[in-house]
Amino acid sequence: MTKYRLLAVAIAMFAASRATAQRPTLAATVRQFVSVDTTIVALTHVRVIDGTGAAPRESQTLIIRDGSISALGDDGKVAIPAGALVMDLTGKSVIPGMVQVHEHLFYPTGPGIYGNLAESFTRLYLAGGVTSMRTAGNMNGYGDIAIKRSIDAGTRAGPWIDATAPYLEGPGLNLIQVRELKDAADATREVNFWADEGATSFKTYMHITRAELAAVITAAHKRGFKVTGHLCSVTYREAAELGIDNLEHGFFVATDFVTDKKPDECPGQVKGQQSVASLDPNSAAAKSLIAELVKKNVAVTSTLTVFETRTPGQPLPRGLDVLDPQLREQFEKGYAAGQANTQSLNATLFPKARALEVAFFRAGGMLLAGTDPTGGGGVIPGYSDQRELELLVESGLTPLEAIKVGTLNGATFLGRASKVGSIAVGKEADLVVLNGNPAARIVDLQNVEIVFKQGIGYDPAKLIASVKGKVGLF
Ligand SMILES: [Zn+2]
Repeated sequence: MTKYRLLAVAIAMFAASRATAQRPTLAATVRQFVSVDTTIVALTHVRVIDGTGAAPRESQTLIIRDGSISALGDDGKVAIPAGALVMDLTGKSVIPGMVQVHEHLFYPTGPGIYGNLAESFTRLYLAGGVTSMRTAGNMNGYGDIAIKRSIDAGTRAGPWIDATAPYLEGPGLNLIQVRELKDAADATREVNFWADEGATSFKTYMHITRAELAAVITAAHKRGFKVTGHLCSVTYREAAELGIDNLEHGFFVATDFVTDKKPDECPGQVKGQQSVASLDPNSAAAKSLIAELVKKNVAVTSTLTVFETRTPGQPLPRGLDVLDPQLREQFEKGYAAGQANTQSLNATLFPKARALEVAFFRAGGMLLAGTDPTGGGGVIPGYSDQRELELLVESGLTPLEAIKVGTLNGATFLGRASKVGSIAVGKEADLVVLNGNPAARIVDLQNVEIVFKQGIGYDPAKLIASVKGKVGLF
């Protein structure tokens, strides 16, 4: 903070006269990570990348007042209110806080074992620039809901959370932390139970039947909630027909192209992936499925980050130094084995699936971004959210398109675009200050200097330092 010119005058007076409408009172456990907590902040000389895909605007002044963006315009044309903390951001950019939709609050500590991380993951998401997120499935029952509530109450540092219910899954996964649905009536009952308990999002999984999925969609829509799926037993086309809102993992897990696919049966992950790996993204079959998803308004979530860690030739992920050393070693061993596997299906699957995501986007599809911090354990929140947008650019999106996917598209899907997802007067001041220009160099997303959530500025270095070497444990 000392590097910024401070012109704070009469802040106390303003703070007293203006009640903070949206901002919670922060507990000391959260305040320790805060670098800017002033009612009025003026960001000056900053490049604004607003999240809508519009060209960056240079030399802007942005005023944050009481947690919201109260003014925005060219330097010199926007009055700087008395008492504002003025931050000269020459050479820096501001983007909307990221809205990522395939996030988790658990970590794969061992085969089939998931450690629930109530503290470290939420801090890392915030440090990486994520100010809103949907958890896409949970392994902790009430955990995601309680974590969401504690963040809203100001007792825990982290993004705003759309909290999912536990996975809605039929028999076949054999994970002790996942309950198995019995039938469609059971699926309805489970949706209503978790909606009553505070879940606001529903994730269906690989072995659900069409009848159960239909029941989930009906029950969730009745309560005003959306349904996503990491599917296998149900094809993308079938799910779209049933009215699903969102499909996870791009086209990596589509079973539409498995020739001997039996209804309601998952042909196995490998068989599905083989069919995608051998698919021509320009074929009539691929185009037809994409057109159907666009027509039915089904959003598709790209989670390239989790597949990247298994793909030969892809770099070692960033952020591994935050892991508990034993877990880091475990991941690095798995990564090395993946790199050495010359027969890896991922080598052909990864480029094909990326091309399909871009084709979906170019066809007008609602592409969303997420990271899925599961897999082999190398997908680290925050770092991977930045990497996901880098991967979209490497796949063929422009940096401005990728930023939109990771901000406004997520907010639009979650029904929060009137509040967050882009930089505009009246919206909440969820903003990421970056050194550099991600519109020209997407990797500048890594240079996070401050993350504003509802106008409160968090210090990413402090958030990261608080968990270093301990992620996987808490
Ligand atoms: Zn996931």
